[in-house]
Amino acid sequence: MAEYSALSLLKHAWSGNRDWRPAWRKPEPKPSYDVVIVGGGGHGLATAHYLAKEHGITNVAVLEKGWLGSGNIGRNTTIVRSNYLLGESIRFYDFSVKLWEDLAQDLNYNVMFSQRGVLNLAHSPGQADDFIRRGNAMRHDGGDAVWLNRDAIARKVPGLDLSGSARFPVVGGLLQPRAGTARHDAVAWGFARAADRRGVDIIENCEVTGFVRDGERITGVTTTRGEIAAKKVAVAVAGSTGRVMKLAGIERLPIESHVLQAFVSEALKPFVDTVVTFGGGHLYMSQSDKGGLVFGGNLDGYNSYAQRGNLPVVEEVMSEMVALFPGLARVRLLRSWGGVMDMSMDGSPIITTGPLPGMYLNTGWCYGGFKATPASGWCFAWTIAKDEPHPLNAPFTLDRFQRGILTDEKGQGATPQLH
Ligand SMILES: Cc1cc2nc3c(=O)[nH]c(=O)nc-3n(C[C@H](O)[C@H](O)[C@H](O)COP(=O)(O)OP(=O)(O)OC[C@H]3O[C@@H](n4cnc5c(N)ncnc54)[C@H](O)[C@@H]3O)c2cc1C
Repeated sequence: MAEYSALSLLKHAWSGNRDWRPAWRKPEPKPSYDVVIVGGGGHGLATAHYLAKEHGITNVAVLEKGWLGSGNIGRNTTIVRSNYLLGESIRFYDFSVKLWEDLAQDLNYNVMFSQRGVLNLAHSPGQADDFIRRGNAMRHDGGDAVWLNRDAIARKVPGLDLSGSARFPVVGGLLQPRAGTARHDAVAWGFARAADRRGVDIIENCEVTGFVRDGERITGVTTTRGEIAAKKVAVAVAGSTGRVMKLAGIERLPIESHVLQAFVSEALKPFVDTVVTFGGGHLYMSQSDKGGLVFGGNLDGYNSYAQRGNLPVVEEVMSEMVALFPGLARVRLLRSWGGVMDMSMDGSPIITTGPLPGMYLNTGWCYGGFKATPASGWCFAWTIAKDEPHPLNAPFTLDRFQRGILTDEKGQGATPQLH
């Protein structure tokens, strides 16, 4: 198991680093599998890992149309938190934080999970009340939350503008100490390697182009590398959900695809050691181990499948950043990119059996699915293996939209009504 031990590093350095075992194999697709997972993002790979590890189901293929990490798993701002308002959200996301805490050991791969805390800044007494209410809800459901006053915030984030002339004065902040960040592509690689070691076939450059049906039942997929039969087909394609489900004849889902951008600055000396979010608009920022500030803001605000964004949101995010941290005004932006979000209409995810027999669906992550990666994979694997949801994802099945029992997470969730 200790593939990256100090001894093996030395041994491979000695032989010119030529004989490393690939992190995952490059198998040819087999004609049939017990489970085919469409989408090799974080959620698809985590599902494969937990299917093999928790349920002993290893005759599994993950089909990815590009390369691992080409989707949102490699494009996000890496924030992990469970600071929600509703009990069902807190329990689900807190379970995820617990899985994160042991993930490096579980995968034997350093996913660089750093529990540096997430601080939500409040800018008015009304917003402070709202955040304190959410903190109490978190604590009530077993989560962790601490209210910080202005002095404590000044000590924790010295770069913040807390002066009387600040455009958005800070009145306090809700800190979740166990929240933090992780290394996004290491998460994809770690899950991929762990699933591969248990016998899962990870097949890159294999786009699903259609579904094979026997009447209503899904019995396989057609792909750019041939037809593959499967007892169960699980779809976890994030922003491509609408397009892929249309291939199965599902024309209408409570999902919209939106662009979200991320930004990285040039490297700075250590500047901020927690994640800071802005309550006067929509901004979240942290500093990576390489020194770059990693940050993002609002969606671009129109439906799209393009993995790139537009200048008005760049300008808006930069102005929010400078309003909070005027000292950063002359820092240069190094990189930016976009990802396609699967926005559900109540802001909560969907982890469900169906909507057709033989099919399973994982979607609706909006701009917050990275933190959910382990819990989503764990619950989706359970749902696929047992043909019913686990109590943790029972509130997140697709039929809630028909039954009218929505999980409308306005606390700290996505806000589809604004887009
Ligand atoms: C800019 C940005 C910032 C974000 N910041 C955060 C954050 O700070 N915290 C947080 O919790 N979340 C964040 N998110 C959200 C998070 O990244 C996503 O919710 C999550 O990664 C989605 O799940 P995934 O990893 O499985 O998606 P993806 O990595 O997108 O995986 C889906 C895969 O399906 C593949 N696919 C699509 N169609 C097909 C097909 N026909 N056949 C085969 N494969 C197919 C795609 O190529 C893709 O690789 C952010 C997202 C973006 C874009």
